[in-house]
Order: sequence, then structure tokens, then C-alpha cells
Amino acid sequence: MSASFSCNAFKPGNNPDNLHFIRQEKSQWRDHTDYTFTPDEKAEATILFGGLTLLQDKLIASALHSLGERYVAIPNPDFESFRLGKAFGNRGQCNPTYFNVGNLIKHLQTLQKEKGLSSEEIIKKYLFVTAGGCGPCRFGMYITEYRKALRDAGFEGFRIMSFEHNKGIFQALGDQSAINFSPTFFITLAKAVIIGDIINLLGYKMRPYELEKGATDKAIEQCREIISKAFIHKKNLIKAMYKCRKVLKTVALNRLRPKPKVMIIGEFWAAMTEGDGNYNLHRFLEEEGAECIPQPLINRLMLSIWEAEFTLNQTLDIEKPGQKKIDFSNLKNKLLVNAAKVALKTHFTLYSKAIGLYDFTLPDIQKLADLSKAYYPIESSGGEGHMEVAHLIESAKENLAHLVISVKPFGCMPSSCVSDGIQSLVAGRFPSANFLAIETSGEGAANFYSRVQMALFKAKQAAKEEFESLDMPAFIPPKVHCYLYQPKTGKAGSAANIVQSIAPKRL
Ligand code: SF4
Repeated sequence: MSASFSCNAFKPGNNPDNLHFIRQEKSQWRDHTDYTFTPDEKAEATILFGGLTLLQDKLIASALHSLGERYVAIPNPDFESFRLGKAFGNRGQCNPTYFNVGNLIKHLQTLQKEKGLSSEEIIKKYLFVTAGGCGPCRFGMYITEYRKALRDAGFEGFRIMSFEHNKGIFQALGDQSAINFSPTFFITLAKAVIIGDIINLLGYKMRPYELEKGATDKAIEQCREIISKAFIHKKNLIKAMYKCRKVLKTVALNRLRPKPKVMIIGEFWAAMTEGDGNYNLHRFLEEEGAECIPQPLINRLMLSIWEAEFTLNQTLDIEKPGQKKIDFSNLKNKLLVNAAKVALKTHFTLYSKAIGLYDFTLPDIQKLADLSKAYYPIESSGGEGHMEVAHLIESAKENLAHLVISVKPFGCMPSSCVSDGIQSLVAGRFPSANFLAIETSGEGAANFYSRVQMALFKAKQAAKEEFESLDMPAFIPPKVHCYLYQPKTGKAGSAANIVQSIAPKRL
């Protein structure tokens, strides 16, 4: 329980910069968790959520709409969200907390201004759903932080509901009665997340090579409409993905331009967000002539499942008092974990084949754990666990990228010790790795961009040399410019991979 101040004199609409002028009474901060959400309230309520990629947020809203749920995605966090997060949040939080907590406050203040709603009306008509969790990092305190900041911003009593990311569909939430956290809810949510991941991955593969600027984004928007309609009208999603394939095929590409491939790893949210939270890193890299390899959300889901299985296996040998010979609860948990793994993999494979994503394989988390365990204690969860270390080793060993950037949010405990500590050792042992750990403080854009540009210069040279070392065949089959052509030849760059795949075989 953290100590803070109760701002009794503060009223919504006051300038947060003036907070310290307001007379404050010291009191013990207590987090109330007894909020209710009854079926009657639900009929009138709008459920807010957000924080994933722009495409995923929109697809989730449509997917949940198909279940009769009124979910609205709030816009992506920006620097104003960050400022509000800092103004109303506790000191010493990590950067994603400030961005996300401030973003909710910003959205509620916008509702006040644009819809003329009072704080009381907002508290009554809206609530926010987010993932919560436990563990050694600040993720375990997110919910409390939301409530504290909302109270100080004049929205005391605003309901924050959560599901735990590491319990998923297996949790029981008896006290949040009108919130639909049923298996169907989570399965629908997972489908939207997976489809969003697949389309995003294809977007990153295509955008750097498009002949007409903006053509890929336009095609992706059409795909979003197709998938959203399929969700809303409960149509076959595999067929919808196949329709998207036809849309993407219309984007004209020149895929023989050598471009540095940049793998983006790091803390989950900071590496994934598409906005000020990481200074728009992905778009910046693309404008600077790079191709990004993003971390899809499914990697994080696979890690959560692996962690659940790992913990389960660790506890199997511990004898509990009065334990029966066959412990059916353990057996049931194992079956559930396996079912979740199979379901994710199956859906991912079916949707990616339908739209034409062939060269992305889901991470084998155990293989990554084996790769990293000489450097990172794999029992230690929190943040991305062993994944950051493993991605860098895998990239160096398998020549997956010309540059690996680890996005390390300011104030992040797990990512700081991995990026600044362990990764220095890994980079030392794998000298071929071009690695950059970069901090997102929300306040140092110029420094951030200049460090990325310096690392990118080396990556560009490497991509050019790799490409120029190959013999260009006299005939280039037109199929190579279609995104569906995805050879794997061991080269890091996409253009080099293509040339290598069509080069006459030397005897
Ligand atoms: S992993 Fe780091 S940035 Fe993410 S919630 Fe935990 S402390 Fe914050």
C-alpha cells in the first residue's frame, strides 16, 4: 500500500500543473476494490479499453460487438497522455504506466469537454477494462495506479475492471458479474488479436517496398473492414482472410531494393505501441529506409502459456499434505494449458495460410529458454522474461536481422537489467550482433532518433554488402515482387533472400 495525498479540494477541470498550490490533507491511500457492475448498469454503460496496436484495438471492438458487448477503443496514448500520467500518477512509475494511465484520464477529460458530461455521469456511464497481473514488475500495480490517478484527476470511483493476463480464460470473476469474461469472450478476443498480428506482420513486410506511398496502409484498412464485417455478421474468418489476400495482392511492390532488417524487441508495450510511447519507432525506421520485424502479441501469449506450464511442472514434484495419488487438479490444469497452446497455434496457422503469411513461425518458447538459460535465470518471470535475451541470441545465430533494437522504457525494472546488464554480455559473446538498447523516457526524442540513426547506418552498410555479394540473375521472375513469395535462404535482408532463391545454383 503506498502513501499518497488525498486532494479533497481538487475539482475536475483544474489545471494539473497547479496541483501543488491546492491545500492537501495527508491521509493513507486505500484502494477500494468493491466496485460493482450490475446488469442494469451494463445496459447504459460503455466499456473502454485500448493499448494494443491500432488495428488490433479496432478489430477487438468489432469482435466483441458480435457478442453484444459495447466496447470502445480509446485512441493511442500520446505525449499529452504521458504528461497527465505524470501529473496524477505516483512518482517512480515506469514509462508505459504513465502513458496508459494518463491516456485514460485524457480520454475522460475529452468526454467532459466534447460531450459536456459531468464527472458523475462519466463514472456512471463508462468503465475501463484492462489486463492486470502479478509478478515482480509494476504490471501488478497497474490497476491500483489507475484508480489512484483517476481519483486525483477528479474521477474517484471510476470502475477499472481487469482480467489477469496469466490466467486468461481459466479465471473466475464472481464479483464482476455483468462483465462477460467467459471462455467465448476470450476466444473471440484471441481471434481478433491473432488476425491483427498477422495483418500487421504483412504490413511491415510490404510497406517498405511499396511503389505508391500509402498503398499498403490503404489495403490494410480495406482488410480491417472485411474482417470487422466478418466478425459483426458472424461470417467465416478464414474466408474473410482469403478475401484480404486478394486485396493485398493489388499493392505493387519492388522487393529488390536492399534494406536493413531491424528486429524490435524489448518491453512488450514499448516495443509494440505505434505512437509517442516509443517515439513512433516503427514508422521512423521505415522512413529511414528500414524494414521492421515487430514482436507480435501472440509471442507474449505463448510466453504466458509457457510460464504457466513451467510453474505447473515445477510444482508437480512437491508433495502436498493429504494429496491423492493422482492429483486431478494438476491434470486438469495441464490439459487446459495444452488446449490453449493448440488453439492459439491452430488459429494462427489457419488464418496466416488463408491470407498468405508463410514465412513466420510461432516462437518455440522452450527453444528460446534453452538458448538463453546460460545468461538469464529462466525461472525469473516479469517483463519479457527470458525472451529479450533469447531473441538477440537467435538473431545473431540464425542471421535474422541487420540490427536488433531493444526498447527499454524509462523506469522499467526487468527491461533495464536485461538491456543494460545481460545483453552487454550477449553482445560481447556474439560480436556479429548489431545491438542497440534504447530508452523511451517520453522526453528525449532527439537523442533517441540520433542513436537509432547511428546504429542504422551500420545496418544499412551490412544490408548493401550482403545484397551486392550475390550474383543478380539475368531473368527476374515477376512473382518475386508479390508479397506471397516468401523464400527463406538464410540471408537477413528480404531482397538478398529473394535474389539468393532465384540465383542459378552453382555446381
Ligand atoms: S515490464 Fe517494465 S515497463 Fe512493463 S509494466 Fe513491468 S516495469 Fe513497467
